[in-house]
Order: sequence, then structure tokens, then C-alpha cells
Amino acid sequence: MVKGNLLVVTAPSGAGKTTLVAALLAADSQVQLSISFTTRPPRDGEINGKDYHFVDRAEFERMIAAGELLEFAEVYGNYYGTSQLWINEVMANGRDILLEIDCQGAEQVRRLFPAAIGIFILPPCLATLENRLRGRGKDSDEVIARRLAVAKEEVNHVDEFDFVIVNEHIDDAVRDMIAVVRAQRLTLARQSERHTALISSLKG
Ligand code: 5GP
Repeated sequence: MVKGNLLVVTAPSGAGKTTLVAALLAADSQVQLSISFTTRPPRDGEINGKDYHFVDRAEFERMIAAGELLEFAEVYGNYYGTSQLWINEVMANGRDILLEIDCQGAEQVRRLFPAAIGIFILPPCLATLENRLRGRGKDSDEVIARRLAVAKEEVNHVDEFDFVIVNEHIDDAVRDMIAVVRAQRLTLARQSERHTALISSLKG
């Protein structure tokens, strides 16, 4: 079985990452999203097991101690982490895995899986980022100001990523995202694994 790719998608809060990822998942059934664990309380409309696995701090700390997390980070005072068990299972079945995580988590994943593909999403400008954070209307002014500061800090890490998508027009950004994921399946390394017999039968 041809190994799947590990895709790491990172963006400052408000860059439109969740919408982009949802569109990619709808368009490409080979990609499987990792559902993170978090101690953040659910926002209106979020569903346990679909958006996140919502757990309390004691449970999260138990998972850290038991080595059940591939990576974790504290973001805005809450823990977020990726299940090691789940990743091992899905990687074995050849599908691409997508992690929607912050740059601290991305760095940990890159260390463990140097072949992971990093995709960074940028908003088209600072004003758009701020409007998107406000437009969501789910957080206080203080939280929004804090998120903006953290967003700028996240962008400092952009050059650690392999691909950058500017989310100005959502349709274009979705096409870019789909193109990146498809292109990663067509590298020489992946195609040589997938088409060993074809390539050797066609060689002169
Ligand atoms: P939010 O609370 O807005 O859903 O997410 C806040 C931040 O936490 C986002 O930057 C998001 O990418 C990040 N995040 C979500 N899940 C994980 C995870 O499993 N690990 C890490 N390191 N960051 C995560």
C-alpha cells in the first residue's frame, strides 16, 4: 500500500482555515481530518467528536502523561493536541491525514515526520483578518485583541512551511488547496511506489 501524506495546515485565527479545510474534505475523499483534543469549551454550534474532542484539563494532562498525544500546545490558555493512536491507525491505511494545528504543533510534527507537508494560510491583509475575527461575533474584544497579537506572531513562522495560500477569494483558495494536496500525490517518490510495475515495464 502506498503511504499517505501528512498535511499540516496552519493559519492565524481568522484567516479562513476552517472553511478552506471543510471545502478540501468535501472535494477530496482521500483526505482524512484529525479531530484534535482540547480543553477549550465548545463554541455555539460546535459538536463534540466532530469539531473537537472536548475534555477537561485533568483528562488532557492524563493524556500527556500517558504519551497518547503526537503533539500538543497551549493556545490562548487552553490545551490543544493531536491523538497519536488515531494517527498511527490512519497512516497504516494509506490515506492522507490533515492536521489543522498551530505553529508550535507544526514544529513538533515536522521534527517527528520530516516528510510532513506544511501549508500556511494567509489572510489578504490585516484589516480583513481583524474583520473576520470580529465578524465571528463569538469572542469578547479582549479575546479578539489577544488573537490579533497571536496571529501576527504566528505569521513570523511562515517561512517554516512548504506552501502558502492567500485566502482572498475563497474559491481560488480552495482550488489552490486542492492543487497542493493532489500535487503531493504525484511526486516521484509517491508515483514510483504506486506505479513500480508500470515504470519498469515502460523503461527501455
Ligand atoms: P480554535 O480555538 O480557534 O478552534 O483554535 C485555536 C488554535 O489552536 C488554532 O490556531 C488551531 O489551529 C490550534 N489547534 C487546534 N487543534 C490543535 C492541535 O491539535 N494541536 C495544536 N498544536 N494546535 C491546535
